[in-house]
Amino acid sequence: NESLRGKIAFITGGSRGMGAAIVKRLASEGARVIFTHSGSNTEKADLVVRDVEAAGGEASHLVADNGSAESVTAAVRKVISDYGRIDILVNNAGIFMYKPTQESTEEEFDRMMSVNVKAVFLAMKEAAAGMPEGGRIITIGSNVADRVSDPNMGLYGMSKSALIGLNKGMARELGPRDITVNLVQPGPIDTDMNPADSEMAWEIKKYIPVSRYGKAEEIAGLVSFLTGADSRFITGTSITIDGGFNS
Ligand code: NDP
Repeated sequence: NESLRGKIAFITGGSRGMGAAIVKRLASEGARVIFTHSGSNTEKADLVVRDVEAAGGEASHLVADNGSAESVTAAVRKVISDYGRIDILVNNAGIFMYKPTQESTEEEFDRMMSVNVKAVFLAMKEAAAGMPEGGRIITIGSNVADRVSDPNMGLYGMSKSALIGLNKGMARELGPRDITVNLVQPGPIDTDMNPADSEMAWEIKKYIPVSRYGKAEEIAGLVSFLTGADSRFITGTSITIDGGFNS
């Protein structure tokens, strides 16, 4: 499947987890992929590039901290300057915090909103400026945006539900240019952030009708669909992919 041949895809947080799966999937469909990571584990980012190249695709990475407005803006501008445009933007990087809201600090609030929301706004704004017709913006939110199923997820839930309004507004702005803007809301997915063999996992699985965690590749499959021709009429919406957790 070479459906993304010639497309430039920019993905935040592509060194591990869902981001890495999305990088590999879009590269396997022919896109030239550039992804960011925080710089905490460059070896893992190199490994993702090696996997892509072994499969005949093209990918490269750059360090950009989603917690820094300057850093995110500079990364998007660099990709546009190096490659001329961004056809597909996937906002995937995010942080999780498990703590009662009453015990959370103002600094933690600011960090949560910077990484999970402000960076998404900035990347969208910069990438959309020169995005060609047929462009795609996909953001990874969370099913927690609709159902905060645990008392320790107030700030995380806040950050993910903020994305719903941003996503809708951008879809209205960019629709006339034939660019779609969508939010993917995963439920529990087996990654470093939420390992399927953690102490909490057996409790979480009780609430998932299909009785298992999702795989990063399943999220990449939905993202792939949203980049393709069959999804042209899907925009401004949130698609929950959670094995039925929120049902
Ligand atoms: P992981 O923690 O496994 O991976 C996170 C990725 O984001 C890594 O590549 C990491 O890079 C990068 N990243 C983290 N912080 C920053 C930062 N400040 N700047 C740049 N890059 C950063 O996460 P997942 O794959 O599980 O999660 C991906 C997205 O999906 C997130 O937005 C998360 O909130 C969301 N999500 C996850 C769920 C789950 O159950 N796993 C469920 C629902 C939503 P580095 O290696 O450098 O740290």
